[in-house]
Amino acid sequence: MTRSLTRSRQLQLRAEQLLPGGVDSPVRAFRAVGGDPPFVARAEGAYLFDADGNRYLDFFGSWGPMILGHAFPPVVEAIREAAGKGASFGASTAAEGDLAELVRRCFPSVEKLRFVSSGTEACMSAVRLARGFTGRNFVIKFEGCYHGHSDAMLVKAGSGVATLGIPGSAGVPAETAMHTLALPFNDLEAVKAAFAARPGEIACVIVEPVVGNAGTIPPAEGYLQGLREITERDGALLILDEVMTGFRVSLGGAQQVYGVKPDLTTLGKIIGGGLPCGAFGGRADVMDKLAPLGPVYQAGTLSGNPLAMAAGIATLRELMAREGEIYSGLEKTTKAIADGVAAVAREAGVVLTTNRVGSMFTWFFTGEPVTDFASAATSDTAAFGRFHRGMLEAGVWLPPSQFEAAFVSTAHGATEVEMVVEAARKALVNQV
Ligand code: PLP
Repeated sequence: MTRSLTRSRQLQLRAEQLLPGGVDSPVRAFRAVGGDPPFVARAEGAYLFDADGNRYLDFFGSWGPMILGHAFPPVVEAIREAAGKGASFGASTAAEGDLAELVRRCFPSVEKLRFVSSGTEACMSAVRLARGFTGRNFVIKFEGCYHGHSDAMLVKAGSGVATLGIPGSAGVPAETAMHTLALPFNDLEAVKAAFAARPGEIACVIVEPVVGNAGTIPPAEGYLQGLREITERDGALLILDEVMTGFRVSLGGAQQVYGVKPDLTTLGKIIGGGLPCGAFGGRADVMDKLAPLGPVYQAGTLSGNPLAMAAGIATLRELMAREGEIYSGLEKTTKAIADGVAAVAREAGVVLTTNRVGSMFTWFFTGEPVTDFASAATSDTAAFGRFHRGMLEAGVWLPPSQFEAAFVSTAHGATEVEMVVEAARKALVNQV
């Protein structure tokens, strides 16, 4: 071990006394990969700096929000300016309308929206709205997709649930879970069969259009269109959970890339520029069922928080102003990283399947094509753990689980491509 982690280890010991597992979100723990989690002291551009002064090339970007890199000056300035005017009012501000207008320009399917403080809230609220609008109870989700930690969504979920091998969550009543039908991703026949078994009973299908929470899994050709047709035919709503893919795989998310128009969309991560923020929106006739207009209740003390709005506006303005350059740059950099490491793995005789959509990617330690959660689960997670530890030792911090997407930011350039490929060369030597 060349890095000193003295201070991080002290902080970890203290954290373990105070926070379950030493963390505020299970995905941050290193249980699946082993080794000591560094404690972050600050970040800049593509790099994280830990409490002992070690520097890491960051490939999780706060799990997606930091598409412009850390401490991007216009975002920092916007937050500073907003903070000087007061942190929260609990009354409406112009900033909510400003950000809503920007979101609508990026996502034409979103006629009306409501801001919340997390992706969990966005998905939970969208599902409640779909149930309230349709008067139906059943919800279809897909194995390995993660839509936050609300009760109904924790059935066969991805992300930390998959990482820790928890099929669902204790504490979710069976009566709640029974209304969530979890089907394999990329399998339209399974969806058709579920609708045939319960005609007129399914409120919505919620899907990550590109799965990120089982590792990166793209939709098969025609899959999202198929979901659109099946839901429309039955009168169920289609919810695209673009918390991860929104403003990430393109400015207009996966719905722009794959040309599918959902009834509702959920957003999070990038929309808040690194501050707690989410949103759900879509058809105006559906959104107008929300209180105070309609009977579906949803609320939030900090919803539309002025600091989060300011960070979101600064982030979206940057993405919109330089859309072509930013997304083609992300594509180019991420392709170079994914291909570079895949080539190094081939040289080292390590079997990898690389999945990538834009600036989201995953190296699965399996020889099988990864098209759903079952194929993702064929990955050798012990090998991934060795790889993760080797990469961290070489100064590259990947998401600490095989079942998560890695992210590239605009701050990652040619130097960073070279760094990650060289780090992988070292880390993969230990794999064979
Ligand atoms: N939906 C997707 C696709 C996500 O990736 C996540 C978080 O990773 C969520 C929902 C939940 O968002 P949050 O962690 O902000 O509650």
